[in-house]
Amino acid sequence: MLGAIVTLLLVAAAAYAIGQAGGLITLLFVAAVVFLAYRRLSLLVFTATFTLLLAAYTLLGASSAPAGVWKGFLWVILAALWLLNLRPLRKAIITRPFMKAYLKLLPPMSQTEREALEAGTVWWDGELFTGAPKWPKLLSAKPPVLSAEEQAFLDGPCEELCRMLDDWHITHELGDLPPAVWDFMKSRGFFAMIIPKQYGGLEFSAYAHSCVLVKIASRSTTASSTVAVPNSLGPAELLNHYGTQEQKDYYLPRLARGEEVPCFALTGPRAGSDAASIPDTGIVCRGIWQGREIVGLKLNFSKRYITLAPVATVIGLAFRMFDPDRLLGDRADLGITCALIPRNTPGVTIGRRHFPINIPFQNGPIQGKDVFVPLDVIIGGPKMAGSGWRMLVEQLSVGRCISLPSNATGGAKAGVWATGAYARIRRQFNMPVGRFEGVESVIARMVGLTYTMDAARSVTAGAIDGGEKPSVPSAMLKYHVTEMGRQVANDALDVHGGKGICLGPRNYLARGYESVPVAITVEGANLLTRSLIIFGQGAVRCHPFVLREMNAARNPDRTQGVDEFDRALFGHVGFTISNAFRSLVMALTHARLTRVPVDGQTTRYFQHIVRFSASFAFAVDVAMLTLGGYLKKKENLSARLGDVLSCMYLASMVLKHHENQGRQNQDLPIVEWACRHLLYHAQEQMHGFLRNFPNRPLAGLMRFFIFPRGRTYSAPGDRLGRQVASLVTDSTDSRERLCEYIYWTLEPTNPLGLLQEVLLLTRTAEPIEKRIRVEGVKTGKVTALDLPGQIQQAIAAGIITETEGAALRDYDRKTLELINVDDFAPDELSRRAEPVPQSQARSSAHVA
Ligand SMILES: Cc1cc2nc3c(=O)[nH]c(=O)nc-3n(C[C@H](O)[C@H](O)[C@H](O)COP(=O)(O)OP(=O)(O)OC[C@H]3O[C@@H](n4cnc5c(N)ncnc54)[C@H](O)[C@@H]3O)c2cc1C
Repeated sequence: MLGAIVTLLLVAAAAYAIGQAGGLITLLFVAAVVFLAYRRLSLLVFTATFTLLLAAYTLLGASSAPAGVWKGFLWVILAALWLLNLRPLRKAIITRPFMKAYLKLLPPMSQTEREALEAGTVWWDGELFTGAPKWPKLLSAKPPVLSAEEQAFLDGPCEELCRMLDDWHITHELGDLPPAVWDFMKSRGFFAMIIPKQYGGLEFSAYAHSCVLVKIASRSTTASSTVAVPNSLGPAELLNHYGTQEQKDYYLPRLARGEEVPCFALTGPRAGSDAASIPDTGIVCRGIWQGREIVGLKLNFSKRYITLAPVATVIGLAFRMFDPDRLLGDRADLGITCALIPRNTPGVTIGRRHFPINIPFQNGPIQGKDVFVPLDVIIGGPKMAGSGWRMLVEQLSVGRCISLPSNATGGAKAGVWATGAYARIRRQFNMPVGRFEGVESVIARMVGLTYTMDAARSVTAGAIDGGEKPSVPSAMLKYHVTEMGRQVANDALDVHGGKGICLGPRNYLARGYESVPVAITVEGANLLTRSLIIFGQGAVRCHPFVLREMNAARNPDRTQGVDEFDRALFGHVGFTISNAFRSLVMALTHARLTRVPVDGQTTRYFQHIVRFSASFAFAVDVAMLTLGGYLKKKENLSARLGDVLSCMYLASMVLKHHENQGRQNQDLPIVEWACRHLLYHAQEQMHGFLRNFPNRPLAGLMRFFIFPRGRTYSAPGDRLGRQVASLVTDSTDSRERLCEYIYWTLEPTNPLGLLQEVLLLTRTAEPIEKRIRVEGVKTGKVTALDLPGQIQQAIAAGIITETEGAALRDYDRKTLELINVDDFAPDELSRRAEPVPQSQARSSAHVA
């Protein structure tokens, strides 16, 4: 409302000024100035061009008294602009005092914090912060592809592993993977995808690693979680990057061969999300090691939720290292440090299990009491003492882009594959349920989200293979892809009705559904990731000026600091003004005039992303300028800005994925659904940000530049939803492309293969069924209530042939097999004859 009033007032003022000051000439002058701001010229070029324009305007414009005042005002502005071009003067009177005040507001930052903040690389996320993303940077990246060896691994050992997995046996009967599966995974290199070949590993690309996880996750989340962990942030990754040669030579071949099973222990009962505050200690002291007195570490720790801990042979451990007796140097508090501890080290208690939400991957607590170890257990040796946090943050940027997003995508793909087929074969009210509008819209959402997830994981994995370590996208993928996975899992269950609810060997959805909260919680729980990390890290890391300003202000060389701060500050001011006008112009024109390098049916989405990028960059600057450090506390505002950034990022991934797949025309409805959904969400989150911005006049001003025509972007429509749903309720190329890499081989124990088989049979069966209905049931020639009876009567009445009847019977039998659910004798469901006394049920907190 306020925005609309401000807009009206400004339009009225402009109209008045134009009317008073000479109509068209004034309009041309204003348009030229807006154009200059839009094109983001340097201050000097802008000032020079403004001088020429103003001179022409003064000569040609109206000469009334109000026009004279207006022109006088513009000449004052021009004088100020020329003064700003005199750098020594501007440094003395503006930059220096401003930098002084700025420095006071900056929170102190330790070396470790700075290193963590600067960890990883800035990629497409940085472009989205500019307000004018350079598309060639994204579009020129090579599409990710699998090497022949990687493809062979997917078609060979990975296919074989999937065949071996019986999820009901694993989750309900065994509570673990069978020994044969463990052996197979260890011996065939499933735990060694990121280990270099020189150490016996597979050395797969990030993309191949991701595809392997997609495939396993489509079969069993217990297995995919088990495979994900050794290949993600953990001992192998840390050794690869920071280990001493001796450590690499010893551990990496053993890990590659599966002789060692790793885990990584950071989280504890007292330090969850705030992992940097771990109370676990390693004290440098003298002690006896293998019969000799040495300087080593005495460790005391209590960890929980540690994946693979119960079966791990080597523990990656994070603790805080202290040297109270100054045995190593003059620092007492050395900071967070990472070490590798063999399981059988005296003092370590390990082996008990947690039971994470019915998904029995190995996970449990670890405690250590006065565990004495030599200093060379530190990853990278004693010189890396205190570098643990940087190591973790740096490597998290890669692992977090792959493990959870790939597992979630594999689950979503399996969900879409199954749901599309099930919604076609399950009939109610004489129609496949997937043909009802209410169900179609849910299936369309599943498809659009799964396409987005797949695009994000594969394009980002491709970027990693190209050398990026994208820390902000890793947080965006972690949050959004797992949340989308949650939505797809919910939707799949809804469309399946009771079939999705009743557990048993025939249920192919429920364990995937149960596993969703695991993905949501691990590697930084989602609420925290959304509220604190995505925008908080992005604002500093990706913004083209903020980190430069911070570093310049802290530069101990004052003269150089002022010089750098001055360039950054004035670049920043010009950047903000330019983004305001870019946002306004693109919002008014609906970005139709925005130049983008792609010409075709997706052009408009490229243009809208540029528009949102300018609006976002402008809003970010206003928010940071006015709220400063307080923005971190206003988590909902940060979260909404993070959502806008993420939606632009994900929509860019969708467009790039579409390009990578050769611009498949059949997929266009899905691409449109995904982009519309994301950009609509970006708009609504920006609206929510403005609605809740504490400074209301500024919120109104921002609204004028961002939504001068109101919120004009629409969510995907019903007709589009119908088109999208139809692509997966039939056997189409789009369906196969979308669900690429899942395990849908036709074999008796694979529901995904069986569902596809029956989906293909619908092509023959549905027309026969229709004939029976139209020519038999409606005419009264067929009176039976069940399909087998109807088939018999229809054959007798000559409506269908014997062969057609046999085909329909076969289809009906297979369909019923898939629709059926399990039932159990009461004693089959009871796992124990006697209840366990309460006193025997220990908790890890109690142990700790
Ligand atoms: C099954 C499982 C496997 C795991 N595997 C490992 C492993 O192998 N190694 C390891 O070290 N760790 C592991 N973890 C830990 C995991 O990575 C999370 O970091 C940890 O679970 C988060 O701590 P918490 O559960 O105690 O949540 P808490 O820290 O208690 O947080 C509770 C809630 O508050 C939210 N929250 C907290 N602070 C903020 C904030 N400032 N703003 C907004 N929201 C906030 C969180 O997002 C969460 O939703 C695992 C956890 C689980 C459940």
